[in-house]
Amino acid sequence: MNTYDVVIVGGGIIGGSIAFELAQRNLRVIVLDRQELMHEASWAAAGMLSPAPDCPADIPLVPLGRASLALYPGFIDAIEDSSEISTGYRTGGTLEVLCHGDTERELSTIVALHHGLGLACEPLPLEEAHEMEPALGREARAAVFLPDEASVNPRSLSAALLDASRMAGAELSPRTDVVSLIKDKKRCAGVKTAAGETFSAGHVVVAAGCWTSQLSDAAPYAPTRPVRGQMVALQHAGKPLRRVLRSERGYIVPRDQATPQNLVAGSTIENVGYEKAVTSGGLEQILGAVNELAPSLAGAEILDTWSGLRPGTPDHLPILGPTDTEGLIIATGHYRNGILLAPVTAKLITEWITEGRTSLNCEDFSPLRFLRGNVDRSAKAQ
Ligand SMILES: Cc1cc2nc3c(=O)[nH]c(=O)nc-3n(C[C@H](O)[C@H](O)[C@H](O)COP(=O)(O)OP(=O)(O)OC[C@H]3O[C@@H](n4cnc5c(N)ncnc54)[C@H](O)[C@@H]3O)c2cc1C
Repeated sequence: MNTYDVVIVGGGIIGGSIAFELAQRNLRVIVLDRQELMHEASWAAAGMLSPAPDCPADIPLVPLGRASLALYPGFIDAIEDSSEISTGYRTGGTLEVLCHGDTERELSTIVALHHGLGLACEPLPLEEAHEMEPALGREARAAVFLPDEASVNPRSLSAALLDASRMAGAELSPRTDVVSLIKDKKRCAGVKTAAGETFSAGHVVVAAGCWTSQLSDAAPYAPTRPVRGQMVALQHAGKPLRRVLRSERGYIVPRDQATPQNLVAGSTIENVGYEKAVTSGGLEQILGAVNELAPSLAGAEILDTWSGLRPGTPDHLPILGPTDTEGLIIATGHYRNGILLAPVTAKLITEWITEGRTSLNCEDFSPLRFLRGNVDRSAKAQ
């Protein structure tokens, strides 16, 4: 009999971060993943740590994003100290530019919105923006500097996190496909795998990314859906970019300061089910944005392309916390922000398990909101 304090279904950045936090508290934890751990959305991500909202629906998420960004330095220190693997964590801010439409008006809206939400945001004259990032193209018509934003290399972070979790005592079980939850009246007592094995636990945390809705007992609380994002890795021999460059059409994230420099660029937002193909249209969109942002990258070599499936939700908000099935906790739906939100998610889920309450108000993210029917479940992910 496999018996644990906590069984976590899904070994992406969310399941891995929760396992690390719980194992540090000496809880007996196992992470089950149906393939190798960290090979889905968390592997595909760009790694920007940006709590800024992409659209009005994201606004309730900003306090959670700010809280997580503030936890990042400690999160990285703990993981790097334990694993001795560098995560590529870089502070230094983001340069965001506007190239289209009424850029003057857009700029004042962005600045007012950021300030209203407590996010640092400095409008920059274009000459200063070009000095700050000489690769910036002449298409930019307005610019802001977001000094508190950071980035991380999600693949390095994933490797370091798995190592640190193992060292803290968590068990990691790849190639373990969970097919159902074990229910004992109104209590979730564990999980069953495709191989017929059972794992019993006081708490089951479902962190299966966009596949969470495929587990029938988790689906009513977590109507997740996949939202494809394509990415391109580039290498260029020119002057290295110093920070994240972003526009309304896309972004470029430097992975190092070396010459030649490795960069990643993205992304698309596509509702195409569980299809992970990289398409010519997707690449055209990303490379168009890159060439507009930094035309000197037109000569950069394409090193790799890939796509990943973000865990989208009907209201664009994550799904975090206990359900009305005792022992069953959901941690998914992080959509475009799972790398940013990993530390705060791990903290909150650990608080629920160890103290029965959280230090932040998480009502907006409750899995019960879908049972109450106050969310339009048919809303399209954007
Ligand atoms: C192109 C792209 C760019 C992104 N850029 C950023 C960014 O810059 N910043 C940011 O913060 N976020 C970004 N994201 C979003 C971020 O990657 C996700 O929100 C995050 O990775 C979700 O993590 P997760 O652990 O929930 O899911 P995943 O990483 O998808 O992990 C889920 C895991 O569950 C496993 N699983 C599923 N079903 C089962 C089952 N039945 N049994 C066992 N295991 C199961 C899967 O195999 C998988 O390993 C990006 C995403 C994409 C695709």
